[in-house]
Amino acid sequence: MPIPTSPDGNPPGLWAAAAPDGPECGALERHRDQGAECDVIVIGAGFTGLSTALHLASRGVSVRVLESGSIGFGASGRNGGQVNPGWYITPDRIRTLYGSAKAERVLDAAGGACDRVFALIDQHEIACDAVRPGYIQAAPSAGGFKILNDKIRQWSALGAPVEYLGHDEMTELIGTRNYEAGMLDRRGGNLNPLAYARGLAAAAITAGAHIHTRSAVTSVRRSNNRWSVSAANVQLNCDQVVFATNAYTDNAWPGLRQAVIPVSSVIAATEPLADNIRHSILIHRHAVSETARVFYYYKLDGHGRFLIGCKGPAFSAPDHHPATRARAAALQLFPQLGNVAWEFSWGGYVAVTSDMRPRLMQLAPGVLTAMGYQGRGIAMATEMGYELSQHILDGDKRFPLTPLKRLPMHFAHRPAVFAKVLTARIMDRIKPS
Ligand SMILES: Cc1cc2nc3c(=O)[nH]c(=O)nc-3n(C[C@H](O)[C@H](O)[C@H](O)COP(=O)(O)OP(=O)(O)OC[C@H]3O[C@@H](n4cnc5c(N)ncnc54)[C@H](O)[C@@H]3O)c2cc1C
Repeated sequence: MPIPTSPDGNPPGLWAAAAPDGPECGALERHRDQGAECDVIVIGAGFTGLSTALHLASRGVSVRVLESGSIGFGASGRNGGQVNPGWYITPDRIRTLYGSAKAERVLDAAGGACDRVFALIDQHEIACDAVRPGYIQAAPSAGGFKILNDKIRQWSALGAPVEYLGHDEMTELIGTRNYEAGMLDRRGGNLNPLAYARGLAAAAITAGAHIHTRSAVTSVRRSNNRWSVSAANVQLNCDQVVFATNAYTDNAWPGLRQAVIPVSSVIAATEPLADNIRHSILIHRHAVSETARVFYYYKLDGHGRFLIGCKGPAFSAPDHHPATRARAAALQLFPQLGNVAWEFSWGGYVAVTSDMRPRLMQLAPGVLTAMGYQGRGIAMATEMGYELSQHILDGDKRFPLTPLKRLPMHFAHRPAVFAKVLTARIMDRIKPS
């Protein structure tokens, strides 16, 4: 799986150019760190790992985060920056998958995930261009109405601030006549995700956590009733390990890589828009995604750039992206972008599970992981970091724990997803949803 990187070690794309610098986090050093002890080692410095570390350190736990790249190097520094509420699947589907008692706890976690993001931003004064006008899911045709109606009915019954938007309201809020209807979910918003990740890292360090970048974990073994973690030729010891590696999981824990399918997604961003164009698109800076089988998601960032993303085939070089399709879709929706320059394009991997629900898994006694947010990880990864900390601190099982489940024939899933995307694209033309 090729992972494009900027020459400076940051994730490629707009966010690194627009985010404030993160805290200084050096690599592990053998002369200083060899044999160091702590309570918990978190592997991966994305939202899952940083939120886990922050919540643990805030409760006095000694925690070290080990990251193979830089802070937010994985999906957390490459995503669309849409704080998407809820899950990909509906509350009723969640009840079917978990059974009613567990489902209520899951819905509680899922329902409050956006609140946790914005509360952390406020509490730690994270400068990440965060705004919270809401998130709109847009139906390009009548086919998408059922999805939206089900979500509106089911989330409203749970007290969530969701509402139906007709064609005229959609046209006014988004600035295109393309949509028949939509759902506004006021829990959502948008932000600069790398700035958010760096802010979480700074808050975790202030709370007492140690973060080491350029420190790829190569093995995790049981030794003298503790866990021995090797990274960058240094060995550390701890009681608990959290894998927060998600779609970027490598072979450090046997079989973990096979638990999710990494699906590539690409994004293109314009230069800051001139005022006359800026005021004709997304007047309140809502984050939007579509109900179509192969959907586009878009928003404006804090500097008035228009960003649009979609699923795209895996790419092989940092300067080669199939974001052309996303740009063409943008021009169809907003012809006024015709002469605007596209300054950035980049991509990353989204972790998808077989039944489209996130996982919190116990890999061994004292080894946990959370992954698989289906492209809704700003809120859900932050929430899962909190859930992981609660499991470790209080044995709190609000979010159900499952054993590691590898996807059978994992090697075949990525080509299968690719074929499915192509088929869906054709189906969207024949019978739009
Ligand atoms: C293009 C794109 C667009 C997206 N858009 C949105 C969006 O708009 N809204 C939304 O909510 N979600 C979106 N997502 C999903 C979201 O970004 C992820 O769900 C979220 O960032 C996952 O966070 P994480 O911490 O679990 O994983 P990651 O951020 O991927 O972090 C995993 C980290 O583990 C590290 N790692 C892996 N192996 C090792 C090792 N052996 N040793 C040390 N470190 C290791 C990696 O380097 C990586 O930094 C998008 C994702 C992509 C790729």
